[in-house]
Amino acid sequence: MTLKLAEHYGLCFGVRDAIAEAERLAQHGPLTILGELVHNPVVRDRLTRAGVREGALDRTADTTQVMITAHGASDAMRAAWRQSGRGVADGTCPLVRHAHDQLRQFVQIGYFPVVIGQPGHVEVKGLVGDFPGALVVHEEADIATLPAELKIGIISQTTQPIDRVLALLTAIRAARPQSDVRFVDTVCQPTKNRQLALRTLIAECDTMVVVGGHNSNNTLQLVAAAEVAGLTVFHIERADELRPDWFAGANVVGLTAGTSTLKETVAEVHARLGEIARRFQHAVPSTCEPKGAQ
Ligand code: SF4
Repeated sequence: MTLKLAEHYGLCFGVRDAIAEAERLAQHGPLTILGELVHNPVVRDRLTRAGVREGALDRTADTTQVMITAHGASDAMRAAWRQSGRGVADGTCPLVRHAHDQLRQFVQIGYFPVVIGQPGHVEVKGLVGDFPGALVVHEEADIATLPAELKIGIISQTTQPIDRVLALLTAIRAARPQSDVRFVDTVCQPTKNRQLALRTLIAECDTMVVVGGHNSNNTLQLVAAAEVAGLTVFHIERADELRPDWFAGANVVGLTAGTSTLKETVAEVHARLGEIARRFQHAVPSTCEPKGAQ
């Protein structure tokens, strides 16, 4: 059994900076995060131990300091929290903020706003929150509900697979040949890097281990891509979930992780897979040591 690590995997800069900011703020007093700072139980446990509470964007909080997550929020929601008298720290990732800015610019120049993404996801709710008429397109069937607008401005949720986004864009253009359809690609570069690295890994492996929260959108996208390619896929959150018998028939095992997974967690999974490989009396190449987040 050979082990191969993706060229790009794990924690992105947006999540890393939001975690650091939450831990810094928690040292100065009680803090409520308005939602899951990251969709990762290992990180959430660490924040809980640091005294950070978890609330929700649309509920009240019993601390005077609150924090918006890297997924962002609508301007209306941000203003409501400020008006409630609380200190509002904004952990919105700059690349999510860029998506908000692009959508607002479309509306300002008279384009009907469309977001390609997952309905109900916290980032998407934030994106469309200031534009009640905006349409979220997740499947081709959603395009049928697109109003007969002559000018349509489209952005994407930052963690959507770019291939999927471009396919839906093509479908929208085909369905509205008379419309001026403009698109700004707001899938973030860390997500693209991980998707591309996974594609390379898929070509070399028969089995894939994906590390990340079970409710992490970008982790689920990595899992889905490996499954569609026909690999045997194991989605775990922690190293202690790995079972040696899963790998009895595996030859080449790939390892990747979603953008909210700590590099320590990936290193633990990598070490555990190495133990399992040795148990099967095969070598793990030394070139597969985990690197830092990229
Ligand atoms: S996945 Fe992309 S948009 Fe989301 S926090 Fe990370 S870098 Fe920012």
